[in-house]
Amino acid sequence: MGIGSWFLGIDVIDSHCHIAGPEFVQDLAAVIDRARRAKLTHALVILAADDAAEVAQGQRVAHAWDAVRFSIGVHPHAAGKFAGNPADAAKAVDAVIAEEPLARACGEIGLDYHYDFAPREVQQQVFREQIRLAKRRRLPIVIHTREAEDDTFRILDEETATDIGGVFHCFTGDRAMGQRVLDIGFHISLAGIVTFPRALELKEVAKMVPLDRLLIETDSPFLAPVPHRGSRNEPANVVRVAEAIAELRGDEPESIGEAARRNFERLFAP
Ligand SMILES: [Zn+2]
Ligand SMILES: [Zn+2]
Repeated sequence: MGIGSWFLGIDVIDSHCHIAGPEFVQDLAAVIDRARRAKLTHALVILAADDAAEVAQGQRVAHAWDAVRFSIGVHPHAAGKFAGNPADAAKAVDAVIAEEPLARACGEIGLDYHYDFAPREVQQQVFREQIRLAKRRRLPIVIHTREAEDDTFRILDEETATDIGGVFHCFTGDRAMGQRVLDIGFHISLAGIVTFPRALELKEVAKMVPLDRLLIETDSPFLAPVPHRGSRNEPANVVRVAEAIAELRGDEPESIGEAARRNFERLFAP
């Protein structure tokens, strides 16, 4: 697939990417150039508050690309570092937010019971502390949840996270879970998985999300969409996600891109 296919003329956004990570240090300028040519107007770049190299690289990314806004958090995979002191996770996030004028969200935060890299109890405590921080900072939250649906919704409810709202990133649940997300006023962000032939249930979710709750993302460097599957993903590929959703809904890619851009601007106030 050549670069020519990116010239669709539609404005798009990437609601979730990790381009301050080590995978993009070598050719960052080229990645940003392709994203610009793909007409990305905004990108939410995730910074892990516990990763000093990524936070430092975030500065270079922001200088190179004015479309960038940041979401800062401690990922559930890293929650184990804060066992016994979960409040320290929120403190680390707060310190990075305080230094970062482009911070627009707290995340990604949540629960991952698929990998279970940190004990579940610790993941939950670190998740809670960061929701509380986001409420103090009045920032929306970017949620990562995998095989932890009930605990995720229980904690969001107990912490009254609906006050700040946010997004379930890289949504992979079924329609019933999608409805739970919509019922609490959160947004659903779809990634390249929606282009995978076997993701049948997710394709149904893509049809049911109201346009004013839909976001699109790459989760770069992960999850390259068809036909790039298996290679490093990058923000320009979000066009494929918009196209796939449009095709499923019998809609135009332009209206998907436009809706996602509007939702991004409302949620992350760029
Ligand atoms: Zn994630
Ligand atoms: Zn991510």
